Amino acid sequence: MFYFSKSKYCDFRQCPKIPWLKKYKPEVYTEDAAREARFTAGNEVGDLAMGLFGDYVEVTSYRSDGSLDLGRMKALTKQYLAEGREVICEAAFDADGLYCAVDILKKNGDGYDVFEVKSSTSPDHAVYLTDTGYQTYVLGRCGVNVKRVCLVTLDNSYVREGELDLSRLFRVTDVTEAAFAERAVAAEYLGEAKKVMRSAEEPGIGVGEQCNEPYACAFFSYCTRELPSPSVFDLYGLSFKKKVALLKSGVRSFGDALGSGTKLGEICLRQIEFSLGRQDAHIDREHIAEFLKTLTYPLYFLDFETIQLPIPPYDGTRPYQQIPVQYSLHILKEDAPVEHREFLGRPEEDPRRALAERLVADIPEDVCVLAYNKSFECGRIRELADAFPDLAPHLLSVCDHIADLIDPFRKGYYYTGAMGGSFSIKSVLPALYPDDPSLDYHNLEEVHNGSEAMDLFPRLAGMGEEERKRAEAALLKYCELDTYAMVKVYEALKAFL
Ligand code: SF4
Repeated sequence: MFYFSKSKYCDFRQCPKIPWLKKYKPEVYTEDAAREARFTAGNEVGDLAMGLFGDYVEVTSYRSDGSLDLGRMKALTKQYLAEGREVICEAAFDADGLYCAVDILKKNGDGYDVFEVKSSTSPDHAVYLTDTGYQTYVLGRCGVNVKRVCLVTLDNSYVREGELDLSRLFRVTDVTEAAFAERAVAAEYLGEAKKVMRSAEEPGIGVGEQCNEPYACAFFSYCTRELPSPSVFDLYGLSFKKKVALLKSGVRSFGDALGSGTKLGEICLRQIEFSLGRQDAHIDREHIAEFLKTLTYPLYFLDFETIQLPIPPYDGTRPYQQIPVQYSLHILKEDAPVEHREFLGRPEEDPRRALAERLVADIPEDVCVLAYNKSFECGRIRELADAFPDLAPHLLSVCDHIADLIDPFRKGYYYTGAMGGSFSIKSVLPALYPDDPSLDYHNLEEVHNGSEAMDLFPRLAGMGEEERKRAEAALLKYCELDTYAMVKVYEALKAFL
C-alpha cells in the first residue's frame, strides 16, 4: 500500500527527491532548527485556534506510549461526522493510504468548512494552497462535502490587552477557489509520487531554486556534496536564485566565479581573493582610525536578547513582536578596568518596564554606546520609548548615541579569509582571536546563540528551582559574552593603529 501524508505531499511538491531521501536515505537529513521552531509554534497556535468558533470536539488521541493513535482518531472523526457535530478539531482522514488531519472542520449546511491554521501572519504562501489542495482532495475521497476552505493566520496588528481575543488575534482568509484548483491537480501529482516512492532509484534531480523555496531543504548538504568547498553557494551577498543560475552556467567554485566574467560585488570579490589565498589580512588603518575617532570614553557596549512569540504573552504586545527580556552592558573607561552590568527578566511578567528602567539607570544620556549591527538595538529602544513615554527622552538619547561596531567590517576596513564573507560577530571574533577559548561560543553551556536564548527564556517559567538557576546562568553568560566580544573587537581595532 502507498502511504502519504500532507507533509510528504508538500515535500514532494517542493522537490520529489525530498520524500524519497527521507524514506531511503534518512541518515543524510540535516537537523533544521528553523523547521523545528516552525513546528512548535504551529502546535501552540493550532491548540489556541481550536476555540475560535466556540465549543468544539477534539479528535486527537494518544496511545499509552505517547504516540498518536491514528486508528482511534479516524474512528472518532467518523463518529463525530455521523453525529453532525458543529466544530471538529484535528479530524483525521485516510483514503487508501492518503492521510491527513484537518485543524478545524465547521458544519456548513450539508457539508463542512475547512479551516487550516498557520502560525504565520500572512496567508499568501503558495505552500498553504498546496496543503489545503491535498486536504480537500483526501476529504473528497472520504465523502466529506467541503463547502469552503479558509486559512487562519495571526493578525500582527492585534495588540493584546488582558485575556486573548481570539476573534482579533486570528484572521480568516477564504481561499476556496485556489484550494479547489489545487485539489484538481492533486491526483496527478499523487500518481507521480507513487511511482517515485516505489522506485529504489534516487530521483535524478539536480540542485535548483526549489532547494530554497518554500523552505531551505534539509538535504542541501547531501545534494551539494560533490561541489568544491567553498562553493558558489558560499559566495557572500548573492541571492540563492543567482547562485543557482551561476551553478547552471558551470560555475561551481570561487575560482570558476572569478573566471566566469560574472559581475560580482566588491565584498564578494574580496571574499574570493582571500579564499584563494591571494592576500594577507586586509587592514585599512586610516579608515579604522577615523572610525575610532568618532568614539569617546566612557564606552557602553550594549546587547539585547529578545523573545518573539506567535501568541503575544503580555499586555501591549503583538504576535511575533520582538520583546527585549535581557541585556548585557560592558562599560569601558579610559585607564580603568572594564565594568559589567546585566539584566534578566522573568517570563512570568512583562520584563520591559523593569528592563527600560534599569537601562536608563545604567546608561547616562549623551554617552557613547556601541552595538553590533545597531538597527536591532535601536529598534528595541525606540519600541521601549513608545511603550513608556516617561522614559522616552532618556531612551531616545541613548538610541541617538549608538555607534555601530560592525561598520569597520561591513565597510571593508578589516577583512581576512577566516571571516568567510560574513561580518557577524561570530565570524569576526574568531578571525581576530583564533586561539582564545574564552571567546569561543562553542564553549558555553546550553545557550550558544540568540535562537537558543529566545527558546529558553519562555521555558524558565516551567522549570524547577535548580534547573531554572542553571538556565538563567546560561542565559546571562551567553549575553555577557556578546558584549565582552564587542570589547575585544574594539581592542583589536585599536591595536591595529
Ligand atoms: S537539496 Fe534540492 S535537489 Fe536535493 S532534495 Fe532538497 S530540494 Fe531536492
